[in-house]
Amino acid sequence: MTVRLREAMGTLPSYVPGRTVPGAIKLASNETPLPPLPHVLERIAQAATGVNRYPDSFSLELTEALAHRYGVEPARVVVGCGSVSLCHQLASATAQPGDEVLYGWRAFETYPIVTAIAGADPVAVPLRDHVHDLAAMAGHVTEKTRLTFVCNPNNPTGTVVHRDELARFLDAVPDDVVVVLDEAYHEFVTDAGVPDGLTLLDEHPNVIVLRTFSKAYGLAGLRVGYGIAGNPELPAALRQTQTPFAVTTIAQQAALASLEPEAESQLIARVKDIVIERDRVQAELIAAGYDVPPTQANFVWVPLGEDTVEWAAGCEQRKVIVRPFAGFGARVTIGTPEENDRFLAAARALGPSR
Ligand code: PMP
Repeated sequence: MTVRLREAMGTLPSYVPGRTVPGAIKLASNETPLPPLPHVLERIAQAATGVNRYPDSFSLELTEALAHRYGVEPARVVVGCGSVSLCHQLASATAQPGDEVLYGWRAFETYPIVTAIAGADPVAVPLRDHVHDLAAMAGHVTEKTRLTFVCNPNNPTGTVVHRDELARFLDAVPDDVVVVLDEAYHEFVTDAGVPDGLTLLDEHPNVIVLRTFSKAYGLAGLRVGYGIAGNPELPAALRQTQTPFAVTTIAQQAALASLEPEAESQLIARVKDIVIERDRVQAELIAAGYDVPPTQANFVWVPLGEDTVEWAAGCEQRKVIVRPFAGFGARVTIGTPEENDRFLAAARALGPSR
């Protein structure tokens, strides 16, 4: 017997998680390589004693801590079960059949999925030299556009857009179209020309900045992210579209513990180490003959076109799991120095051309 599903299910792109292979190093999901801080682990253990109760559905304490941290009203902050969940909520809250969702491509693979689930039409504008082509994207804004995503730094290319070009794009987008600045990798940015999206909110209240505790804060397994919007309307709509109790008490408490100044400064020190390794890995790949676009995230992008899958399989044979995007390239997360050395040895052995 077959069940009746929506037509969209036949063509829905699926999210491909990075693979975990026993005995191999996983550099496939842009996680941090180190375990949580002892202080955060203690809070997780404490919070676990209360899991007979449902969590606070709206994460009020964490919402307030984030509002305080960034100097905005709590009503402009929304917490979600990972920022990926906020991407889904944004599409549900803004787009329906007949509407358009605009994004650069290739970018975070969730954008086409949430667009298709909402039943809206995707408008995917090709990157130029691995970078969002914001001028071309502005040219694709129509009366039907309801939502647009700009991933900065971009996943999977690691590339960034700068303040002026982003400001021009925001000026070109009508005030009632929601612009998502997906800043999942913001903490790894060292290029001073890249704006902190939060500084754009006063002038552009239709913007929401998404951040996450999964990357720099090392809590990928707990699922907690947040959005800060230019006005309270959007967070209220996202609370309406959320799954009740989606963010567990353990996740909320771990995030709160990570925002305490001492913990946060230790986490930021770890980010600095990753950035040093990122720059080393990039330089060594280039020295080995690879074409690697400049990255500002905790991963590098190796554009290998049709060779991608074979190259990724070669890495796997050498016990290093990367994330291939067939026909385009491979994304490789920065790990510990030892892990990165293992990856670099594999990359040198394989070489840039098949
Ligand atoms: N945005 C981007 C660009 C990402 O790469 C990711 C994680 N892969 C996310 C959002 C989602 O992160 P999370 O749901 O873990 O907060």
